[in-house]
Amino acid sequence: MDKVIVITGGGRGIGAATALLAAQQGYRVCINYQADEASALKVLGQVRELGAQGIAVRADVSIEDEVIGLFNEVDAELGRVTALVNNAGTVGHKSRLDEMSEFRIQKILKTNVLGPILCAKHAVLRMSPRHGGQGGSIVNVSSVAARLGSPGEYVDYAASKGALDTFTIGLSKELAGEGIRVNGVRPGYIYTDFHALSGDADRVSKLEGAIPMGRGGRPDEVAEAIIWLLSDKASYSTGSFIDLGGGR
Ligand code: NAP
Repeated sequence: MDKVIVITGGGRGIGAATALLAAQQGYRVCINYQADEASALKVLGQVRELGAQGIAVRADVSIEDEVIGLFNEVDAELGRVTALVNNAGTVGHKSRLDEMSEFRIQKILKTNVLGPILCAKHAVLRMSPRHGGQGGSIVNVSSVAARLGSPGEYVDYAASKGALDTFTIGLSKELAGEGIRVNGVRPGYIYTDFHALSGDADRVSKLEGAIPMGRGGRPDEVAEAIIWLLSDKASYSTGSFIDLGGGR
């Protein structure tokens, strides 16, 4: 079976590292992005240099019409999706709950919960034998925040990742008999642009003392776990999680 992967938020950070590893593993790669076209096109160039077929598609994962457009373009350009990485995510400035606006909380929940659920829905419509598919694999990118809660920083974000973990467990059981596996990864502090969103681009370096391994993680270290979970090497794993938190 041809391997076709959709990586949401694939233009930067963990998603970009996953796109490059997927290209090396023989996938046709769809790099989804929301706004940063230049970064997505740069990763697409690297994917093609590795000899893989690829496309970059703009879509906001929290808007179903745009998700439908994303998957239709994948159908037309790369073929039926066999692997989905729900990686796109966002966070707000470090704040207490009583300082958070409704707009901010809505944005976090829409991007980090509604988005992966919509993307999984449209992947399942192509992967499930009920719809003519031949199975597939989904990895949801959660966070160690799902079990730590992020008090005083972003409890809304942590709660969104907790919801994503519950979705992973439920969907894995719903689809286990249809040849579709659903797993999650929970990164800790990883060196990406993500921390600028919380108001401190140097956050990982500053917090290294609080990490048992004494350092932040690299995007490629997370990508390795994602690609393994997607692969046939993880053929008996579903509803499971790999934590990549350096011991946190
Ligand atoms: P990043 O470098 O900031 O990349 C985030 C990506 O998500 C970007 O490509 C962005 O698109 C995309 N995105 C955001 N909102 C979107 C939307 N509505 N629709 C489509 N794409 C959207 O962050 P990262 O660190 O690689 O984070 C990736 C995932 O890992 C996130 O789910 C995050 O919660 C999780 N995570 C990260 C860390 C960490 O320490 N970095 C720790 C735990 C979990 P554009 O490029 O177009 O802006």
